Amino acid sequence: MIELKKNKLLKLPGLIDLHVHFRTPGMEYKEDWKTAAKASIKGGYTTVFDMPNTIPPTVTEIALLEKKSLIDEQLKEVGIPLRYYLFFGADKHHLNEIKKIKNKAIGIKVFMGCSTGGLVIDDDESLHSIFKLAAKENILVAVHAEDEQRLKDNAKKISGPQSYSIHSKIRDESAAELAVAKAIQLVRLYGTRLYILHVSTYQEIDLIAQAKKEGLPVFAETTPHHLFLNTSDYQKLEGKVVMNPPLRTIEHQKALFTAIKSGIIDTIGSDHAPHTLEEKAKSYGACPSGVPGIETTLPLLFEAYHQNLLSLDNILDLTSRRAKKIFNLPDHTDDYVLVDLSLSKRVEDKDLSTKCKWSPFAGRLLRGWPVTTVLKGHIYDLSKL
Ligand SMILES: [Zn+2]
Repeated sequence: MIELKKNKLLKLPGLIDLHVHFRTPGMEYKEDWKTAAKASIKGGYTTVFDMPNTIPPTVTEIALLEKKSLIDEQLKEVGIPLRYYLFFGADKHHLNEIKKIKNKAIGIKVFMGCSTGGLVIDDDESLHSIFKLAAKENILVAVHAEDEQRLKDNAKKISGPQSYSIHSKIRDESAAELAVAKAIQLVRLYGTRLYILHVSTYQEIDLIAQAKKEGLPVFAETTPHHLFLNTSDYQKLEGKVVMNPPLRTIEHQKALFTAIKSGIIDTIGSDHAPHTLEEKAKSYGACPSGVPGIETTLPLLFEAYHQNLLSLDNILDLTSRRAKKIFNLPDHTDDYVLVDLSLSKRVEDKDLSTKCKWSPFAGRLLRGWPVTTVLKGHIYDLSKL
């Protein structure tokens, strides 16, 4: 419930980020759960869902259990009992592992197009097997929906050094549209519960709206970078805003806000995917995809609220209410966040707790910041964290 306190602090349930890459194991130089837990709390988040594209990838029951014990160790060390769930990575050589992780993972992540790490399911036969098996075992499938063949075909047309903005042309809207259409078709066939990650185009929104109209169990996420950045930002931010799926034009940005208001988009996932500044400074092709985001998502949403682009109800839906419904999560009354709606503050790299220490939103003046996060009854004063 939203409560407006006397001193203008707004109380929200602990936020749930359904999409983070905390880089453990294997890429702890970019992030680990000690820095990430701090970043989560600073962003108002008390629950996160971590993705499987680590080194090694989380594609076996053993890898899943090992990852869990590493995380528990790191959280213990930093003294922040962050709640978390893990996605299991679909890999065509380990499909027999899916049954084993049924009650150990929150869902299966399917990369329909290549992104960070080598996980990709680019053949229809494997896709059918996964959607069918997931439906049978009642496991949710989360898709990174970009059509691998389309990405390859587009990349072939391009040669020589390129500016960063070519990224939005190679990974074009059709790549997203084709993959989402295919995933929804599989839901029609098998009845699989489907969560579509980082929706970024109006074409995807149209397909999802139709699926929801049909009563299919299809849910949609968008991200802070697709809501608050667009292709015009390449000029200033260069490699920092290379991510998958890529930035889109303003018309898509506007469509995302409309889709939130009409309920077609269910959630916001930060897709917090840190890389070092050195890595992001590399030229196009060598620069890795992904941006950090968990510390800035909520103030960005509240700035949008101040600009009358979103309602409080929209923010509540995006950051916790829908997530609880989709993933059947328990209510934790000992998790909440207090937001100072009138606190106006600039995003500054030096204030961030993420190990990578930068944000694509640095320099923005935002109104509405979390000031206290309560996790399992522990009170964190964010001005001191
Ligand atoms: Zn991601």
